Amino acid sequence: MDYTFVSPKTEEELVKELNDENTYLMSGGTDLLVKIRIGKVKPKKIVSLSKIPTLHFINETDDELIVGATVTHTDLLEYSPLKEEFPILFDAIYTIGSPQIRNRGTLVGNVVNASPAGDSLLALYLLEAEIELSDGKVVKIENFITGPSKTILSSRQYVRAIHIPKSKWDIYYFEKVGQRNAMTISVVSVGWLIKCKGDSVKEMRMAFGSVAPTVIRLRDVEEFAKGKKITKEFVDEISKMVKDDVKPIDDVRASASYRKRLSSNIVYRMIEEGIKC
Ligand SMILES: Cc1cc2nc3c(=O)[nH]c(=O)nc-3n(C[C@H](O)[C@H](O)[C@H](O)COP(=O)(O)OP(=O)(O)OC[C@H]3O[C@@H](n4cnc5c(N)ncnc54)[C@H](O)[C@@H]3O)c2cc1C
Repeated sequence: MDYTFVSPKTEEELVKELNDENTYLMSGGTDLLVKIRIGKVKPKKIVSLSKIPTLHFINETDDELIVGATVTHTDLLEYSPLKEEFPILFDAIYTIGSPQIRNRGTLVGNVVNASPAGDSLLALYLLEAEIELSDGKVVKIENFITGPSKTILSSRQYVRAIHIPKSKWDIYYFEKVGQRNAMTISVVSVGWLIKCKGDSVKEMRMAFGSVAPTVIRLRDVEEFAKGKKITKEFVDEISKMVKDDVKPIDDVRASASYRKRLSSNIVYRMIEEGIKC
């Protein structure tokens, strides 16, 4: 491990440090330092973001919440409007690691790490978050992440912030199934948001984590749900569609067939939990 470590104090200084592919940005370091230790990445230079004040902010407008690059999971959990306005994001972040990991790890780090098991990602896909890049471009999260640990970022770019549009949902649900209850990476995660009209679904968004190279939205299920009542027959149909849509792999945490079965069964939570419009 032979690398230099720099800690710029402004974004102008930061840009000057981003000069080759072996330079790595570090926010909380909870992913990066693990990858360095196991030899998965071999940096020549690490650029810490922690001393740049313009990256540490949470702003709100009428339409969106904007979370700066160095905002930690704990900062967000302590930001009181989050639970009220974005309960699914609050719940997802609350399941990340341990208090120590949440004190250091950032929302942006979780996104750039681009794991299909990244817990905040599931909520951010459902909320249709957008990623603000250092050159001012703003990209939908689904277009920003291109595969496991892969994003569209070039070595000269960094993420400034995440924009999360505000919208009111009548029902939200998030569940992370892991091998144990605490400090666990999900075997499958699921979330949905529902707007109701009378006793039927007006709009539904559904996403799964850990069942494909990236978090996935199930657009066919979302389309099918429009105008339907949440009944056992409705969930039977969704369950079949989920089974076709998810494309998990075998890994050390679970087999592909177990993940497929789990994904198609987990939507029955709608019935078990008495979820209704
Ligand atoms: C014990 C343990 C438990 C964990 N449990 C969970 C869990 O339950 N759920 C979960 O989702 N994750 C979990 N993680 C993973 C990790 O904590 C999160 O992904 C965290 O949010 C990463 O944030 P960070 O600030 O530490 O990222 P860092 O490690 O600093 O960075 C992660 C990646 O993003 C890049 N990066 C960081 N900031 C920027 C930026 N502004 N612009 C461009 N690139 C950037 C880095 O170069 C690196 O490639 C766990 C990790 C550990 C060690």
